[in-house]
Amino acid sequence: MAQAYPITDHKYDVIVVGAGGAGLRATMGMATAGLKTACVTKVFPTRSHTVAAQGGISAALGNMAEDNWRWHMYDTVKGSDWLGDQDAIEFMCREAVPAVYELEHYGVPFSRTPEGKIYQRPFGGHMRNYGEAPVQRACAAADRTGHAMLHTLYQQSLKQNAEFFIEYFAIDLIMENGECRGVIAICMEDGSIHRFRSHAVVLATGGYGRAYFSATSAHSCTGDGGGMVLRAGLPLQDLEFVQFHPTGIYGAGVLITEGARGEGGYLTNSEGERFMERYAPSAKDLASRDVVSRAMTVEIREGRGVGANKDHIYLHLEHLGADLLHQRLPGITESSSIFAGVDATKEPIPVLPTVHYNMGGIPTNYHGQVLRPTDDDPDAIAPGLMAIGECASASVHGANRLGTNSLLDLVVFGRAAAIKAAELITPGTPLKTLAPDSADRSIDRLDRLRNADGGARTSEIRLAMQRAMQDNAAVFRTSDVLAEGVKKIDVISTTISDIRLSDRSMIWNSDLVEALELDNLMACAKATMHSADARHESRGAHAHEDHPDRDDENWMKHTLAWIADDGRVTLTYRPVHTWTLTDEVDYIVPKARVY
Ligand code: FAD
Repeated sequence: MAQAYPITDHKYDVIVVGAGGAGLRATMGMATAGLKTACVTKVFPTRSHTVAAQGGISAALGNMAEDNWRWHMYDTVKGSDWLGDQDAIEFMCREAVPAVYELEHYGVPFSRTPEGKIYQRPFGGHMRNYGEAPVQRACAAADRTGHAMLHTLYQQSLKQNAEFFIEYFAIDLIMENGECRGVIAICMEDGSIHRFRSHAVVLATGGYGRAYFSATSAHSCTGDGGGMVLRAGLPLQDLEFVQFHPTGIYGAGVLITEGARGEGGYLTNSEGERFMERYAPSAKDLASRDVVSRAMTVEIREGRGVGANKDHIYLHLEHLGADLLHQRLPGITESSSIFAGVDATKEPIPVLPTVHYNMGGIPTNYHGQVLRPTDDDPDAIAPGLMAIGECASASVHGANRLGTNSLLDLVVFGRAAAIKAAELITPGTPLKTLAPDSADRSIDRLDRLRNADGGARTSEIRLAMQRAMQDNAAVFRTSDVLAEGVKKIDVISTTISDIRLSDRSMIWNSDLVEALELDNLMACAKATMHSADARHESRGAHAHEDHPDRDDENWMKHTLAWIADDGRVTLTYRPVHTWTLTDEVDYIVPKARVY
């Protein structure tokens, strides 16, 4: 089959797959270190999903009031509901301060205080002095922080002479003897096949929000890195933890940043009550996202939703005044008008919890190296493979991510991966030889899909999967709902073998690309449902009504989901890191949750 698809070979020290915030920070760092670096991306870099990030990037700069990276670490561990690895969390929160100043020096146009410092806004779960009271920690470029970061990092990567392969879709990793030696990709413009050989591959492919029916994520968030890793015989970690953002615009799913509540916005039910005061008396509307999403869902379930069908909630910003909204939240004022037909300066915005972020992903250490856990060594690495950003699980977010910790994760671990790669790789050293059939499996799969002539369209299978995920792995979960979800997703995933494509050409075949993406989404969806079904406790974003308490004795451990070639899912577990990186901070002992 391979002969029917001629292959163009490329050789680099490092290949980065993905040009969002994580991929670009790694690309820039690797190129700066003198490594011959290529970045392969299916969308133009500045169209990556990171462009949508609104509210900010967290760092304890202390520009608005006293702050401390240790308080940031405490909030992150608490937010993770004690599933985060504390060595990695310490690393991220400590590195946050230099990472944000570094972004400033690269040219990110942050909003400013009157004295000219980086402006910081309050955000959910950001507290001072170990949970005492809210603190302003989210460094913001108005409500377009991701946009500002992405453009700056792309410009810096070009300055360092990194090479870009834009609108190239990575299909599969090249694995030999347990090592990653490159990646196979298709150029979408002309259908040509490319084999990128390298000493290391860095996956920075983003999340898989599109496995759900309603998501704030871009349509390109299809879990391609996760799919490649599962097909390579490696596991994905903690996929059951899916974050719902409380304030997706009702009907459209478009995000209203938490920064809106940070600036003083609040939620009300049909009785006009500010109900968050009942659920989280201290943090109120700025409680962490899982808490606010569940509170909203309870209000709606108990008949206190707003609108004709009593199926959503109101977010009020009108009391903040038009001047402040236009200065600090221009993007969301515009989104409210376009997607809800609402003038946010005068009336409340209709909102509903919407899938927003995947806490789980490809397991890594805090250098970005991918893990291949064994019974003897739960932290063993898979040589040659790294993962960073939303596709990875370092694990700094554990069971629930705090707002603005994702943009931070991208730059901290993008930088860490570049430093590690520069340590391990001497530029220009010869690459290991590859088996002659290194591309055959990927090309066979591509060819099978391209010529598939079954009974179901990609869009039909995708919709069935999205509905199953939305109905059976949502904000509230029960044993029955999850068991039904496992049955549904197992059946739906088999229908991929009956897929039908209508475009057989090689030129810009979006039919083929969507089928490849569906295959990746399906693997992530299946691993998510099985992992959720097995976890018999409630922790972070996994709220299980039949097991309402967190169970540290039995469940303070990371889930690893593996999918065999025949589609069978196996779950194993690895311990949470219950130690810190340095003795500058103590291990934070699990506590009951108080809001
Ligand atoms: P992405 O930005 O998704 O980039 C993925 C890259 O991988 C893309 O370049 C894509 O082309 C490439 N790719 C994927 N698959 C392939 C393939 N098969 N072949 C080649 N290339 C591939 N977080 C915060 O911290 N603060 C915020 O204020 C904030 N606001 C948000 C607002 C919205 C509306 C949303 C949805 C999220 C927000 N987040 C925020 C979360 C944050 O934006 C994301 O988690 C983060 O941007 C993910 O970045 P990434 O680099 O991992 O991936």
